[in-house]
Amino acid sequence: MTDFAGLEARFGAANYAPLPVTIVRGAGVYLWDEADRRYIDMMGAYSAASFGHCHPRLVDALTRQVRHLDTISRAYFSDQLGPFLARACTLTGMDAALPMNSGAEAVETALKAARKWAYKVKGVPPDRAEIVAAEGNFHGRTIAIVGFSSVAQYRDAFGPFPPGFTLVPFGDASALAAAITPATAAFLVEPIQGEGGINVPPPGYLAEVARICKASNVLLLCDEIQSGLGRTGRLLACQHEGVVPDGLMLGKALGGGLLPVSLFLARREVMQVFTPGDHGSTFGGNPIAAAVGLAALETLIDERLIERAAAVGAHLLGRLSSIRNPLVREVRGRGLFAGVELHRSMASAGAVVRRLLQAGVLTKDTHRNTVRFAPPLMIEQSQVDWAVDRFTEVLDEFAERRLPEDILPQPNPPTA
Ligand SMILES: *Cc1c(COP(=O)(O)O)cnc(C)c1O
Repeated sequence: MTDFAGLEARFGAANYAPLPVTIVRGAGVYLWDEADRRYIDMMGAYSAASFGHCHPRLVDALTRQVRHLDTISRAYFSDQLGPFLARACTLTGMDAALPMNSGAEAVETALKAARKWAYKVKGVPPDRAEIVAAEGNFHGRTIAIVGFSSVAQYRDAFGPFPPGFTLVPFGDASALAAAITPATAAFLVEPIQGEGGINVPPPGYLAEVARICKASNVLLLCDEIQSGLGRTGRLLACQHEGVVPDGLMLGKALGGGLLPVSLFLARREVMQVFTPGDHGSTFGGNPIAAAVGLAALETLIDERLIERAAAVGAHLLGRLSSIRNPLVREVRGRGLFAGVELHRSMASAGAVVRRLLQAGVLTKDTHRNTVRFAPPLMIEQSQVDWAVDRFTEVLDEFAERRLPEDILPQPNPPTA
């Protein structure tokens, strides 16, 4: 059998540390390896696989479009982009949407929009605009974005970084209020921090942040690339507190797990700062991406996946919270977006994740020694139960220290 992992190691860059499994096939919540072993996907490709793998309706939308018209660039109109943008705007209550590909590009678009809005609309003096972000954030991997990461490894040896960013503690609205100056353009925040460890802020935080931003003429930019599109049991996580942001970023699930599709959405007053030539992307909003993005939004509504995420997610959180095991430090989450933080002195989340793989459950550790659960939104309650049962057994093994040798000694691999 071809050594696929060896090929990646030999010819790739070592910027990921994959678990020792090679996936060759996927359908719904399941993935299969080379030996045709089946795994339940409790990770959902960092929320990109919200519809389950190879969803027939999405595959159909993609293949139909591919046979008809491919990329034409934004030099011309297409019959696909308008309907996609219109649907995204009506669903989210935003006035306008700008299509990009990756999540990081949507965030960069938001940063550019906020800065230009600050100069052209708010009246901040040239080159003085400040953007406030939250500690523990994850907004992508570009130079500008890692420049305001609080994870040392993401920044180490990649400087110098663009100035104009300030950090405040996540979940502390008064810290935001104190950080705002007349030059502040925007506050950029994830309503629930994903990569940072599935961090849920205190109740009322987002509503208070929205009030502070409005009172200071500062844009509220919500990065819902991971928390949006039903993940937390609402279309957007900010809707749990009735918050309508000034700018919104979507990605990951928006591409249906098939290809990268992202959007920056905003109020007209913000989006109108862009004029032809200001910003763009060769593949952004291409007819295939638009067809898939529209099909993804329609599938989300037609299959009632938001309601499912709320119901099955409540069940998942209930089951995780009722695990009685000394390893468990805290269970956090909302909807089908959950993290179980383990006592670092007792077990590394990375080792637990490797043992779960052997038990047929795919997931990935994230910051704060946390095992994440973000399965496809169409997961059945019985499938959640099966995965949580395996998780409970693995935690028992760790607590009782009866483990195979290949599990304990390995270091906690870096998270993506
Ligand atoms: C994944 C993620 C991004 C970056 O998306 P990419 O498609 O990997 O560039 C940005 N923000 C949040 C909240 C994310 O989870």
